[in-house]
Amino acid sequence: MTAPAATPDLLPNAIAEAPFGTFFLPGPTEVRPAVLAAMLRPMIPHRGAEFEALYARCDAGLRRVFRTERPVYLSSSSATGLMEGAVRAAPAGPVLAVVTGAFSERFADIARACGRDVRVLDVPWGRAADPDDLARALAADRFAAVTVVHSETSTGALTDVRAVAAAARAHGAACLVDSVTGVGGAELHADAWQLDFVLTGSQKALALPAGLAFGVASAAFAAGAVARPAAEAARGRYFDLAEFEAYAAKRQTPNTPALSLFYALDAQLAAMADGEPIEARWARHRAMAEQTWAWVDARAARFGVGVLAPAGERSPTVTAVTLPEGLDSAAVVRAVAARGYTIGSGYGRLKATTFRVGHMGDHTPETLAGCLAACDDALVGLTTAGAVGPVVGRDRRAGP
Ligand SMILES: *Cc1c(COP(=O)(O)O)cnc(C)c1O
Repeated sequence: MTAPAATPDLLPNAIAEAPFGTFFLPGPTEVRPAVLAAMLRPMIPHRGAEFEALYARCDAGLRRVFRTERPVYLSSSSATGLMEGAVRAAPAGPVLAVVTGAFSERFADIARACGRDVRVLDVPWGRAADPDDLARALAADRFAAVTVVHSETSTGALTDVRAVAAAARAHGAACLVDSVTGVGGAELHADAWQLDFVLTGSQKALALPAGLAFGVASAAFAAGAVARPAAEAARGRYFDLAEFEAYAAKRQTPNTPALSLFYALDAQLAAMADGEPIEARWARHRAMAEQTWAWVDARAARFGVGVLAPAGERSPTVTAVTLPEGLDSAAVVRAVAARGYTIGSGYGRLKATTFRVGHMGDHTPETLAGCLAACDDALVGLTTAGAVGPVVGRDRRAGP
């Protein structure tokens, strides 16, 4: 038997020249062909100088993204792995879960699955969490940790996690932040905002293939986790922050890394360092969000659509668009797909009544304009084909 022939340069070139700009799911997001092509490099040992150099570049690039001087943990898992790792590393005691939608509900579920006594602060879906409500809830008991989602991908609401972390700190609780659709698209300063733990996944605003998760622990949170005796800590192993902390110092991962994804990450961070500092990336996302909101507003009267989250509480990376009675999100998604673009349906209990546009990652106002034009055309088609009667305008937006 002969080994397969070495990959000729033809394949990477074919990938690198593929078109980009039609895939607007709020995760996974579209990956630039050049980043995909970077994954075709050969395997190397993960205990060796070449990998350590690759690791060091990824760590340095991600520190700029998270705005931190702490090491960034590189987990070969989806983001959920580090959500579990965060809970397991938190001090013993009850957890207050701030629930603003389906993903923060999942964070609460993870804490329960890790054996925590979980209390929930329920926020109406579509709204951001209010730090004053949180302070009141925190005063009711002695909580070890607060879980919160920065950009709630199911609703498009953005919570002020800096204020949430401050409220948690004032009550002696650690703040665990899911910023899966925040980091890389929404402004975030892990150090300056004093977040105890913040995590993201590769497949959202960083526009990488799915399969990596990145997290930053404050020095105090990491030290606390490391100091707790293993018997009472129950940190597990694969997502053990103490392991990540120890191996980060060696520029290695505790287990075999998803090496091909590290190549993609390295290529993406290099492109960001060369072409778009993180502040510019935040500004691009903000511009795409405003473009989307303006598009919705301009069609509110004609189609009965609206932005679910009220102004001032909106994520720059994802918008959930409410639909009028009689217009189902699945029909909209299908009609948009027929025009060559992929958008998301609603999520969780908002599945049928909203659709979502993921204006994040490496998209630009230009590619987004193409997507919104397809949405336009789809809505015209659906509303003139007799699919809906006259728009009665039942407003499904959340809030007052
Ligand atoms: C996508 C997403 C997750 C889940 O991430 P996985 O990578 O599927 O584990 C968690 N939280 C938020 C806010 C998300 O958008």
